[in-house]
Amino acid sequence: MNKVLHRHDVVIMGGGLAGLTLALQLRRRFDDLDVVVLERRSHPVPHATHKVGESSVEIGAHYFDTVLGLKPHLNQAQLRKFGFRFFFSEGRRDIDQVTEIGASRYLHVPSYQIDRGIFENYLAEEAAEQGVRFIDGALVGKVELAETAQDAHRLGWSQDGVSHEIHTRWLIDACGRAGLLKRKLGLAEPNDHVCNAVWFRIGDRITIDDWSDDPAWQARCDPQARWLSTNHLVGAGYWVWLIPLASGSHSVGIVADPRIHPLDRFDTFDKAMDWFAEWQPRLFDELDGKRELLQDFAFFRNFSYGCRQVFSGQRWALTGEAGLFLDPFYSPGSDFIAMSNTYITDLIAHDRAGHSVDARATLYDQIYHSFYESTLALYKDQYALFGDPEVLPVKVIWDYTYYWGVLSQIFFQQKLTDLALLGSVKDELQHSQRLNFAMQDFLRAWGAVSSKRNRAVMLDQADLPWFAELNRSLNDRLDGPAFKTRMRASVAQLGQLAGEIVERACAAYPGLDCSEMKSLLAARELAVPTIGHSEPMLFAIA
Ligand SMILES: Cc1cc2nc3c(=O)[nH]c(=O)nc-3n(C[C@H](O)[C@H](O)[C@H](O)COP(=O)(O)OP(=O)(O)OC[C@H]3O[C@@H](n4cnc5c(N)ncnc54)[C@H](O)[C@@H]3O)c2cc1C
Repeated sequence: MNKVLHRHDVVIMGGGLAGLTLALQLRRRFDDLDVVVLERRSHPVPHATHKVGESSVEIGAHYFDTVLGLKPHLNQAQLRKFGFRFFFSEGRRDIDQVTEIGASRYLHVPSYQIDRGIFENYLAEEAAEQGVRFIDGALVGKVELAETAQDAHRLGWSQDGVSHEIHTRWLIDACGRAGLLKRKLGLAEPNDHVCNAVWFRIGDRITIDDWSDDPAWQARCDPQARWLSTNHLVGAGYWVWLIPLASGSHSVGIVADPRIHPLDRFDTFDKAMDWFAEWQPRLFDELDGKRELLQDFAFFRNFSYGCRQVFSGQRWALTGEAGLFLDPFYSPGSDFIAMSNTYITDLIAHDRAGHSVDARATLYDQIYHSFYESTLALYKDQYALFGDPEVLPVKVIWDYTYYWGVLSQIFFQQKLTDLALLGSVKDELQHSQRLNFAMQDFLRAWGAVSSKRNRAVMLDQADLPWFAELNRSLNDRLDGPAFKTRMRASVAQLGQLAGEIVERACAAYPGLDCSEMKSLLAARELAVPTIGHSEPMLFAIA
């Protein structure tokens, strides 16, 4: 190995989404921080087909556009997303005759459809511009962690067959699924959420708006641009994504619980097409004449996993898929990158200020894992519900109320690292988490008895004033006391919504056992004051 000339402040192994955004965040915080990113692939990377993970939701979008200040790039070079949209289109060609969940207009807080190739090329250039040393074509091999607080971590990496060694105070693993540190330290942890995904890009737009020529159906959305949504074609045990990319391609994926839809039924493009012909025939029609426009095809078996520890007081950390990954149904990948990068940046800040970061790293790790556990409950053993036009719309509202009301508030209000304030709302956080766990069980039980009526309606989220307001409220700027009040209001809102869901389900399905949920809602530690929504919170028809 070559002689070591320099000890860097931070070395990030892996210059993908997590690594490059962390490098930018660090340089925004400290313009004298010496940051190196070692990325195996050579740049520029290809557009459209580079990586999966293209749809952003509010936390990730806010991290990119506001925390990192990338709004000009997102507005000019990526697509503004028209929210989520779900169609219960299994076995159907008449998309205008099935239940649609979505918003008829843009809600307040923007999110984006991100062409990962375009984005990572831009991020690498921007990082270099901001003073990050970005080295592409650089494969990290050996990692040796420091043994004492004074020692540096040491890495061996190679480029064009030449070996190098680099020393650093902070070592960040952002290597994605290669998970270098996770493997070395034996941190991998299964999470019992067994699910598979395949995806491909097609070099054309899939304009779902043209799937019906009924003017009334088309006019339900303003703009008439459903194709800009992350469209989910759903059925029991699976969902299909349609995500438009700024490069002009469209990303298509199948994500499925293998107990209902085994991977070997769609693990090649031809098999996926046969599968579409049976389960989502309108999409088959769309793609059949475009087979020659196929740009790639890939799959992950069992894509979801946990990780015992992601932040350490010994000056190392894992971010992005090098740590843990949940499920793409609500696109939380970038959210978790936003949160782990924010924690890492803060740990490095404390270290620079000369403070020990041991205890802080432990607490951040616990909080991050608690967010992971709460979010995992939205997906685990819930895939059977995805084909239920009665229960899924309610679940989507619930899941979003939880996401916008709790997790997103913490991130948008920049309270992620405010341990004292988070400690002061511990009860509220625990209440909302318990309610969420119980609600996910209840929704599953409801799904088992639901008659799954698939009506020709649009369940318009923009038509629920409180829901649109919850989205808008993310942009409020709250001080500590106002944040506490907001958290209490969120728990109350979840409590009221839970009560309404239980009441509605139990009235419609007398055979459904509602006693547990009712007694939970009545229990003293979970009895929350209602916040006085005078109108019903749920869709009138759901
Ligand atoms: C099926 C599926 C769908 C998804 N959909 C979404 C979505 O819609 N929205 C969303 O937000 N997220 C989504 N995700 C998650 C998203 O893909 C990830 O959050 C994101 O790509 C992780 O970024 P990363 O930087 O951690 O990993 P990557 O982007 O994979 O980056 C890791 C980098 O490390 C480099 N590397 C690896 N080994 C080495 C080495 N030894 N030396 C140097 N460099 C190395 C690689 O070349 C790579 O560039 C999805 C995930 C899956 C599985």
